[in-house]
Amino acid sequence: MLERVTICEVGPRDGLQNVAERIPTEAKIAFIDALSDSGLTYIEASAFVSAKAIPQLSDAAEVYSAITRRDGIAYPALIPSAKYLERATSAGVREIAIFTAASETFNQRNIRATIDESFERFRELMPLAKSAGLSVRGYVSTAIACPYEGAIKPSKVVEVTSRLFDLGVDEVSVGDTIGAGTPAHVATLLEALSEEFERDRIALHFHDTYGMALVNVLTALSEGYRKFDTSAGGLGGCPYAPGASGNLATEDLIFMLGGTEFDTGVDLQKIVAASKIIEDALGRPLPSKVLRAMSSARPAS
Ligand code: MG
Repeated sequence: MLERVTICEVGPRDGLQNVAERIPTEAKIAFIDALSDSGLTYIEASAFVSAKAIPQLSDAAEVYSAITRRDGIAYPALIPSAKYLERATSAGVREIAIFTAASETFNQRNIRATIDESFERFRELMPLAKSAGLSVRGYVSTAIACPYEGAIKPSKVVEVTSRLFDLGVDEVSVGDTIGAGTPAHVATLLEALSEEFERDRIALHFHDTYGMALVNVLTALSEGYRKFDTSAGGLGGCPYAPGASGNLATEDLIFMLGGTEFDTGVDLQKIVAASKIIEDALGRPLPSKVLRAMSSARPAS
């Protein structure tokens, strides 16, 4: 009996927001449509934010109007505040994500708001989102370490996560934004989270900066967590977190789970095909090791 592991694909949003090159809107649409064909059930497609804050995602409305949505797939958009909700819902967005951090300094540098100020924005946004029937995911970034403050206490992550659930979010994604966490850090964090929250309402968002993302997933699996954020090809990073490179690659997670009791329901070849669309648009290889291996594989002679 296989046990389901849910992949939350964040490449089109978290991945693309952090690339320097301009990606044509048509390539983003083709990328998302290819991802929709892979068995994924969650594809974070874009963000409705000021074009100044994230120029790379300023075509969000065009993207949403052109992608082919499939039944059974959520296509959430990141929204910073109530001001952007209308734009998102008119583009057909039915699920949203909101963003804060466990590190005060990171939040201020990243979204120019204290943690309390970000919650003031959410308090305005949440009733509107809920009355519109939207599901809401909350992000807690820098959950293990912060590029400015260093180690972050698990109690701080629990506190911010708890405030998000109190506001009515459906799920919280807890992120090791700079990828500095080791399995020991992850185990300590998850022990604290598991005391307070249902595991199935928490997703884990690992970065592969130090090559720890997969072992951190294994650690989380052994602690009973079954939901992980990944990015096709390992697309992305974080411009506000110096040294942060690459979300955990979707391909790498699927490949690692081969032969285990866990099944993602996602087709590895189809993720590779989707990643290649973005590689072509970027004109450079993406960091996923599995993508590299599968792209260079030649039949044995
Ligand atoms: Mg990320």
